[in-house]
Amino acid sequence: MTDVTMDKIVSLSRRRGFVFPSSEIYGGMGSTYDYGHYGVLMKNNIRSLWFRAMVQERDDIVALDSAIILNPRVWEASGHVGGFTDPLVDCRTCKLRFRADQLDQSSCGRKPSKRPGETADCDLTDARQFNLMFKTQVGALEDESSTAYLRPETAQGIFVNFKNVLQLARRKPPFGIAQVGKSFRNEITPGNFLFRVREFEQMEMEFFVPPADAERWYRYWVDARFDWYLKYGVRESMLRKREHGEEERSHYSSGTTDIEYLYPIGWSELEGVANRGDFDLTQHTQHSGTKLEFVGEGDERYTPYVIEPAVSIERIFVAMLVDGYDEEVVAERDRTVLRLHPAVAPVKAAILPLIPKNGEMVEKARGLHEDLRKKHVVEYDDGGQIGRRYRRQDEIGTPFAFTVDDQTLEDDTVTVRDRDSLAQERLPIGGVAAWLEEALARPWRTPKA
Ligand code: ATP
Repeated sequence: MTDVTMDKIVSLSRRRGFVFPSSEIYGGMGSTYDYGHYGVLMKNNIRSLWFRAMVQERDDIVALDSAIILNPRVWEASGHVGGFTDPLVDCRTCKLRFRADQLDQSSCGRKPSKRPGETADCDLTDARQFNLMFKTQVGALEDESSTAYLRPETAQGIFVNFKNVLQLARRKPPFGIAQVGKSFRNEITPGNFLFRVREFEQMEMEFFVPPADAERWYRYWVDARFDWYLKYGVRESMLRKREHGEEERSHYSSGTTDIEYLYPIGWSELEGVANRGDFDLTQHTQHSGTKLEFVGEGDERYTPYVIEPAVSIERIFVAMLVDGYDEEVVAERDRTVLRLHPAVAPVKAAILPLIPKNGEMVEKARGLHEDLRKKHVVEYDDGGQIGRRYRRQDEIGTPFAFTVDDQTLEDDTVTVRDRDSLAQERLPIGGVAAWLEEALARPWRTPKA
């Protein structure tokens, strides 16, 4: 079995242009990243597969795109101004900051590095609460009245639009509102590549239900979200559901389950599913003076409960890279391959002329490329030996490669090579588009142990 370390994932991401350290020519910007071509394509796929499952394939969920900077009173009502904090300690010796509740996972600044507090020189302050929201000023005045925040979650933008959606989309519980967008948290100790960053893209859905049905819907969403990962090829042995005990849950939550993935750093939260009760709608009703409730027929009137599945694209991105990363020896040569689900893979197929100097081969390959790119992201590659081109495609997870060779010039067939099995077969060039369509629609399972 391949030992998949975070270093290998970071290095492949960099080497193949998925993810770069941000502002690198200025020395970087700690734990901030930029996405290159393949990273953008893969993120787009993750986002659209989520959207498909949450909105496109359902009758009971609608989409929303709310602002990043909201009225600051939103964050007072939600409890973020008062309580969205992590406990922080400073070390007077090494001048580093740590999360007081994560000292056992942090390294102190001295060499050889130890856990903060472990050496005789460590001089830690008492813990104090540190608010994770990024503050900014809106408008030209710089005083208290112009203070605003970058949203630390997308959910509140959904709650404050509850009434709009209820009225204008003519919904009644159970129904949901889904949103994807950037969130910002001034994390004390970001790290582990994209796992904990200060700006990330959240995908959240708030599902409003009659209070009596909340428990059932909570269980439903835990299972539905777990199954979504299986559908897109994540190994079941690497996933688990972990229900929070009472002491771990937020005061308003009557149930929270983390869907955890076995990252190289150990089992960690990939996605959270929570039963938030009527906390959010009640808070915003009290603070805004606008009643956020459902009024039905007769005397039916209640504040719906909310079930929330929340995840970031970044955590899915890392989980899928880790799950797909594989190394093997083929014909005495090392091969690194990303065994991504075809729907997640940035490029669906490569089109390769065997001999790039052969004009006829190039022409046929170009023609095939033009045809396939109408529907899918495919890549034409004529740079270097064919073996190297295959390896390059393996490393970015391209599931299929079509090669135009001598025989193509005789009988108009191409070879198709399968990324996982390395099996090759011949197809008529005119049937490639239909073949690819069918191959991409087939259920896929990883051959990884
Ligand atoms: P953690 O305990 O890991 O800090 P959390 O419980 O604060 O996470 P939530 O507030 O529930 O996280 O956020 C919902 C989801 O957003 C998480 O399940 C995770 O997928 C994602 N997420 C949260 N913080 C970050 C971050 N700093 N970087 C990347 N993704 C994040």
